Amino acid sequence: MILKTLEIRDAGTHIPALAIKMSHDDPTHNYQLMRVGFMGGSDSQVILMMLNNQEAHSDPYDWNRGARTMPEAHVWIEKHFDELKNGDVVDVDFLYGRTAKPKVSEQFNCQRCFSQSVAFTGSLYCATCMGLEEPNGEPASRPS
Ligand SMILES: [Zn+2]
Repeated sequence: MILKTLEIRDAGTHIPALAIKMSHDDPTHNYQLMRVGFMGGSDSQVILMMLNNQEAHSDPYDWNRGARTMPEAHVWIEKHFDELKNGDVVDVDFLYGRTAKPKVSEQFNCQRCFSQSVAFTGSLYCATCMGLEEPNGEPASRPS
């Protein structure tokens, strides 16, 4: 199994997701996958999971949400799984030709003040919002 976390984006949408490629290389994986009917070949080989509610599907057309985002993302991820890097943005608006430029990842935006100053630490908040730094970049003053 190969796991990649992806940032699925659409107009006004940001869906943190986990894509799992079912690899038949390992005999143990192969056995368990075959027990549930994943035989390899032309069947879908990517399980896609929305991390917010852990809803997951292996068939892109099983997403029954009345919305295009997950089916479109799933079809594209299946075709391009090997090219994707962990953390990549999958912007279906761009990939299906509805916008001219791909959206950039929001992982460097502070989730409180929305500044683009979150270093690659995996944090949700910038140093200022975490109280570690003044807005001018100086270390936070401590009460004396
Ligand atoms: Zn902030």
